[in-house]
Amino acid sequence: MKRTITCIGCPMGCQVTVDYDGEDIHSVTGNTCKRGDIYARKEVTHPTRIVTSTVRVDDGRIPQVSVKTAQDVPKEKIFEVMDALKGVHVAAPVRMGDVILENAAGTGVNIIATKNVPKTA
Ligand code: SF4
Repeated sequence: MKRTITCIGCPMGCQVTVDYDGEDIHSVTGNTCKRGDIYARKEVTHPTRIVTSTVRVDDGRIPQVSVKTAQDVPKEKIFEVMDALKGVHVAAPVRMGDVILENAAGTGVNIIATKNVPKTA
């Protein structure tokens, strides 16, 4: 079967067509560079994503901190990761890169803070 996807590797947004059969890739066409080939192969066989969200901060100068998965997680695990974040709250101060939740939804991937939140004065 054939599937055409838009490469997200750069703003050119090449339309990359993958001819495949299950895990067997017969051809990849339409990509301008190797990154598009790698992205398209992965997207049709093992799609993954970085997940972003926010969690509550207790005693912080702002009430929430933005977070993300430290690495890509399998696309089918996105909702479980979001669920695992429900009800999570951390105490200020929070530093960018702090681990907010380990092994989110059993993916082996940690959730980390993407900004600093100082404690209220
Ligand atoms: S295939 Fe290469 S040039 Fe095309 S969008 Fe992807 S990264 Fe950019």
